[in-house]
Amino acid sequence: MTEAIDIAPGSEILETSLGVLHEVFGYDAFRGPQADIVSHVGAGGDALVLMPTGGGKSLCYQVPAIVRERAGQGLTVVVSPLIALMHDQVGALIEAGVAAAFLNSSLSLEDAQQVEKQMLRGELTLLYAAPERLTTPRFLALLDSLHERGKLSLFAIDEAHCVSQWGHDFRPEYRALVVLHERYAGVPRVALTATADDLTRADIVERLQLQEARTFISSFDRPNIRYQLVEKKDATTQLQRFIRDEHTGADGHDAGIVYCQSRRRVEEVAAMLCEAGFNALPYHAGLDAAVRQRHQDRFLREEGLIMVATIAFGMGIDKPDVRFVAHLDMPKNIEGYYQETGRAGRDGEPANAWMAYGLQDVVNQRRMIDESPAADEFKQVLRGKLDALLTLAEASDCRRVRLLSYFGEASQPCGNCDNCLTPPELHDATESARKLLSCIYRVQQASGTAFGAGHIMDILRGKATDKVKQYGHERLSTFGIGADLSETQWRALLRQLIAREAVQVHDAPYNTLHLADAARDILKGQSPVWLKSLADKATGSARSGRQRASRATAKDDGVPLSLSERECLEALKAWRAGVAREHNLPAFVIFHDATLRAIAGRKPETLADLDGIAGIGQKKREAYGSDVLRVVSAFV
Ligand code: ADP
Ligand code: ZN
Repeated sequence: MTEAIDIAPGSEILETSLGVLHEVFGYDAFRGPQADIVSHVGAGGDALVLMPTGGGKSLCYQVPAIVRERAGQGLTVVVSPLIALMHDQVGALIEAGVAAAFLNSSLSLEDAQQVEKQMLRGELTLLYAAPERLTTPRFLALLDSLHERGKLSLFAIDEAHCVSQWGHDFRPEYRALVVLHERYAGVPRVALTATADDLTRADIVERLQLQEARTFISSFDRPNIRYQLVEKKDATTQLQRFIRDEHTGADGHDAGIVYCQSRRRVEEVAAMLCEAGFNALPYHAGLDAAVRQRHQDRFLREEGLIMVATIAFGMGIDKPDVRFVAHLDMPKNIEGYYQETGRAGRDGEPANAWMAYGLQDVVNQRRMIDESPAADEFKQVLRGKLDALLTLAEASDCRRVRLLSYFGEASQPCGNCDNCLTPPELHDATESARKLLSCIYRVQQASGTAFGAGHIMDILRGKATDKVKQYGHERLSTFGIGADLSETQWRALLRQLIAREAVQVHDAPYNTLHLADAARDILKGQSPVWLKSLADKATGSARSGRQRASRATAKDDGVPLSLSERECLEALKAWRAGVAREHNLPAFVIFHDATLRAIAGRKPETLADLDGIAGIGQKKREAYGSDVLRVVSAFV
């Protein structure tokens, strides 16, 4: 059926798509591979799109959906597992003037029937549905009817990694989606995911029968995110200082996510932040489902909320203006770290990924692995992944180069991480490392048992504590040979030796230190050890400190807003909050912050002046243009 309609060749499709991008979404240019993807999909090709969070996956199917619907091809069906977000996604499309709806279990029977009717009458451009609904006989019958009339245009399968048990979020319902290919062979499909590893990718292709699809792989770099990994001292104080220094301005503080390891710590940190005057909410799986939902809604809808959460929070959170993601405890591996930090700065504006880590994190993570019921080989894999993260944390060169290389991507030093911005000074610590290793060795030999880090440091630094005297360790040749380094420096050195597998931490709950394979070469002096000199990087680099203050109050060209422009921005935000409430949508769905800043900076006086401001499409100009001009007029 679909063959009956002429589809324009590639370049013409691209031009039409650019027109839609501008008219509907108010953007001037496609980002990265978006142009190729919309041309390919718009022309009816199958595609597998691998793009990092915030890369702009939605437009890869929304633009072709609109282009094809306008060419008479009919409906695009979007499969998404994130029922809780469908309402806002569809709301955003409707705001932009696109006929969209969703079908999921949150709708009443009447509302669902209403949507089905609209769908059959050809009144919809995009329909979002959960996978389990899509493959019901009732829904397939509806699709059959559209297909027979040549009005089934495209399937978009979002979060496509859910089809794979290798992905982190396997949903068996996704397996049944292969029926779409079998039943509607001529209807193009685009599958999208931010999960990049080869195993998952191969599985998606096979499970969804996408062998004919063209694969589009984007760089996984998120250049607007600044990575900072600092040594943990007093983590909660450091966190507060970080938020104050980098994410607080005259208008309050930015929205951010703080990840903690345990539910109890989530509660403590959230309470502590509130007490310190921040607007923070807890989120973890131990909270009542209704409370969780309420906190998530508030985070999406209100400005400047800090969500303190376990990793239970975040899947599918598409809030674009999360300005920071902070880790108060070290995650399990780089995959998790990258996924969590990726929730910052989806709008492409500067954002921070900040982590405080310490020896105790390493010890805790090791213990969890050791105590888990998993098979030994599997535990070995987990330990390897933890070590890779520890190595990243201990690195003194570009964090981004290391992150991307972990995902198989080569890159150059980025200029936007702590190590690039404030290169740490290194000194040769091989001698100190040898002292530390021999101390661990001597102590164990002398006493027939191993000890933990604190005791070893005491011996090195020549502290005759009760425990030291009890074991006679003040008589060891290594007693007091390390008085030249502070305890902080010894701990930094120890972490590095653990990262290099020269030392292992064993035997929960005592966390004793043991020499491991790589110790030999260091002891022989054949493998140098470099240590960062102790510039105080504990709170994040000073140089980045003013990033927020300047960005949050700058126009689209980076020029700072004047006082009256800032007041105008506040007035626009207040107006936006009212509209958002009225429409029951998050504020960013009405206009992004960047759009409001551009308006405040430009002070438009006519509707034509609004043209060319990113994020104002035709529909929004018609719906809100005169309101915006009225708000602005008070400041002209
Ligand atoms: P993903 O689903 O890949 O995480 P989204 O589709 O949510 O990313 O897009 C992330 C943000 O980038 C959104 O706020 C979107 O409006 C914006 N965006 C995407 N493509 C463009 C573009 N070509 N020009 C300007 N902004 C864009
Ligand atoms: Zn860098």
